[in-house]
Amino acid sequence: MRQDFDGSYQVKPSDIDVYAAPKNSDASPRALYVHVPFCLHRCGYCDFTLVADRDDLVPAYLQALTNELDRLDGDYEVDTIFIGGGTPTHLSTDQLERLAEILFSRFTLNSGGEFSVEANPDGLSDDVMKTLSGIGVNRLSLGVQSFDAAVLKTLERQHTPAVAHEVVHRAIDAFDVVSLDLIFGVPGQTLDAWNATLAVAQQLPIRHVSTYGLTFEKGTDFYRRRQQGQINSTPDDLERDMYAAAISQFGHSGVPQYEISNFAQPGSECRHNMVYWQADEYFAFGPGAARYVNGVRSTNARNVSRWINCWLKGEVALQDMEQLSADAKIREAIFLGLRLVAGIDINGFLNRFGCDVGEIARDSAERHLEDGLLEVADSHLRLTSAGRFMADTVMADFL
Ligand code: SF4
Repeated sequence: MRQDFDGSYQVKPSDIDVYAAPKNSDASPRALYVHVPFCLHRCGYCDFTLVADRDDLVPAYLQALTNELDRLDGDYEVDTIFIGGGTPTHLSTDQLERLAEILFSRFTLNSGGEFSVEANPDGLSDDVMKTLSGIGVNRLSLGVQSFDAAVLKTLERQHTPAVAHEVVHRAIDAFDVVSLDLIFGVPGQTLDAWNATLAVAQQLPIRHVSTYGLTFEKGTDFYRRRQQGQINSTPDDLERDMYAAAISQFGHSGVPQYEISNFAQPGSECRHNMVYWQADEYFAFGPGAARYVNGVRSTNARNVSRWINCWLKGEVALQDMEQLSADAKIREAIFLGLRLVAGIDINGFLNRFGCDVGEIARDSAERHLEDGLLEVADSHLRLTSAGRFMADTVMADFL
């Protein structure tokens, strides 16, 4: 076990049982994440934990997931379930039903709970939607990414704008909330093209949108192609204009920004992701899944085959684990809380952590209050509109 500079402990996977019952049963995590690591094709920019075109592994994955959940000490009720990927809807309807059986063998979703599943428009049939509704899914997060054919081609997505459009309309009939994922800063994408995608999204009766600037992650095909000069990053000022356009246009159409990358009609914010931003604890299962239980953050093995093979033998498959010190918990809560447009409730923070949010990293807080990137309003510490464009820099000062 090694003590970090801030008092947190990087621990060996054998040091702590991350599947042990939460120490305080009254405060067990109220959120569950499950990772489904299957896609038809790996898009050139994607570095998520997944395998492409390996449907032969699905039965072993479902058995491994069963074994991982069996390792959990106790049964739990949660308020949110989020099945992410990969492409969860790449599973067949039978496999989706089996996945639900596995989850509901240990977890119960509170009545009125939020049950989200990520999906791609490609191949999202009525049968799949019916199956999802049947297992209780009430929120669909659709990886539309763009309504521009050229951008979708660059991103190596399998669907067309017309398919995305048609699927969104069917999904709206089937689920309480439909969310769209959109990407900007794609090589070759112009501001006009991004504005056109935003305009299409605004015309749709959707209640939630997530927008992400494209990043070039090491190990991806896009990263290699940029190194070789085949594609270029989007200039910073253009990316900034694209982000500003999303904030402005969704704000005007009644889907205001509530987090750095997220927009929602009031009341349709993603409750599951709010758990992350509020630095609350959550369960997680599946390859590469990250959990936060009993003050310990741990991540499962990211190699899908390794995770499956370990769990088929009943062996825990972790990548890393960190026991957070009291100081690290406080700093994380600030770092994550500043992602929210509403910011951090100053009194709530004091009650929870017993310290004044303004006193933590006092120099940084004062500097950014002075330079106009932070503000105190309505008893909250938050990024200003200008601060949201410098969020990474400001938030990093609190870690
Ligand atoms: S569909 Fe999504 S998860 Fe799958 S490879 Fe493409 S970007 Fe990654």
